[in-house]
Amino acid sequence: MDIRETSPEQLLQFLQQHHEKPFRAKQLHDWLWKKNVTSFEEMINIPKNLQEKLQENFSFLQTKIEKEVVSADKTIKILFHLFDGEQIEGVLIPSQGRVTACVSSQVGCALKCSFCATGMLGFTRQLRFWEIIDQYVLMNRRAVEAFGIPISNIVFMGMGEPLLNYDNVFKAIEILTSPNGNGLSPSRITLSTVGITAGIKKLADDGFKANLAVSLHTADNSKRSQLIPVNQTNTIQELQEALRYYVEKTNQRITIEYVLLQHINDSLEDAEKLCRFCKAFPVKINIIEYNATDTHFRPSTPEKKAAFVAHLESKNLIVNVRQSRGKDIAAACGQLAIPLRVIERSV
Ligand code: SAH
Repeated sequence: MDIRETSPEQLLQFLQQHHEKPFRAKQLHDWLWKKNVTSFEEMINIPKNLQEKLQENFSFLQTKIEKEVVSADKTIKILFHLFDGEQIEGVLIPSQGRVTACVSSQVGCALKCSFCATGMLGFTRQLRFWEIIDQYVLMNRRAVEAFGIPISNIVFMGMGEPLLNYDNVFKAIEILTSPNGNGLSPSRITLSTVGITAGIKKLADDGFKANLAVSLHTADNSKRSQLIPVNQTNTIQELQEALRYYVEKTNQRITIEYVLLQHINDSLEDAEKLCRFCKAFPVKINIIEYNATDTHFRPSTPEKKAAFVAHLESKNLIVNVRQSRGKDIAAACGQLAIPLRVIERSV
C-alpha cells in the first residue's frame, strides 16, 4: 500500500507494532501533507531505521514531470508520467502577479463532449487523491522556478470530470485547504463540472467551500444533449434544480462557463435562454472562446459575441469574456489530449 493511502489510525498502529513513539505519526503527516516530500529519505527528523521500516512496508509511488511546453504567452503545459505509466496533463497560467494551475481529475475522460479533444481519448482510470496533489506540488515548484511566485489559484479544468471521481477530488481539496495540509484558501480553488447533478447536490451536503463552475454551453435541453451526451441523463431542468439546491445550502455564487460556437449556441435566442436558466440563482458567466480541436466547430464572430454579451448584460448578469491562454501549444480549454503536440524541451 502507498504510504499516503494509510489512515491516521493505521499509521499509529504501524508505529505501535514497531515500538515507535506515537509523535512520529504527526511528523510523518507533516512530511507527507505539509512539506510534500516524495521519498522517505527526505524525512530528515525520522531516524534511519524507521525510514527503512517504512520503506519495507509501504510504497511511495511517484508522479513525475515528463515533458513541458512553453507558450508565447508564458503558459506552460506539463505532461505528467504516473506511477503506472499513464499520462495526464496540467497547465500553469501566469497573469498579473498570479499563477493559476489547471489540474486533471481523471486519466482521459468518459464524457465525449463533441467539441473537446480530451473526450476523444476516452476514459482510462481515476486519479488517486494524492496524484491530484502531486500535480499541485510539482507545478508549484515549476511556478516558483519559472515565474518567481507560487501557485495562487487551482482550477479543476484539466482532463476528466471531477464529479465522476468525487471522493478523490473532495479529499484532495480537503488536504490542499487544510491548515494541517497545504493551507490554501478554498476561495482560490474552483471545481468545474459538466453538470453531474448528483455530485452537485452531494457537494452541497458535504459542506463544499471552494468555488463551483458549470460547463453549461447552452441552456437548450435538446441542443445540450447533442453537444454533451451526459445531458441526456442530467437534463437542463435537473441541473437547474441541483444548482438551486447547491446555492440554497452553500450561499455561493456559481460560475457558468459558456463556449460560443458559431451558428450553434450564439444567437440572441440562445442568450435569452441562458438568462432564463440563470434566473434561479446568483451567477457569474464566463464567455469562453472556442479553441480549435479536430472537430467541425468554429468560434463565433466578434459581432455575434458582442451582441450575445450585450444581451446578457442588458439583463443585469455579470459577464466576463475570457481570453484563451496557451492556444499555440494546445494548452487551452478543450485542447488537452496527449501526445503534446509541440515538444520544446524534455525534463
Ligand atoms: N469535465 C469538467 C472539467 C473540464 S474543464 C467540465 O466539463 O467542466 C474544461 C472546460 O473546457 C470545460 O468547460 C469544457 O466544456 C471546455 N472546452 C472543451 N472543449 C473546448 C474547446 N474546444 N474550446 C473551448 N473550451 C472547451
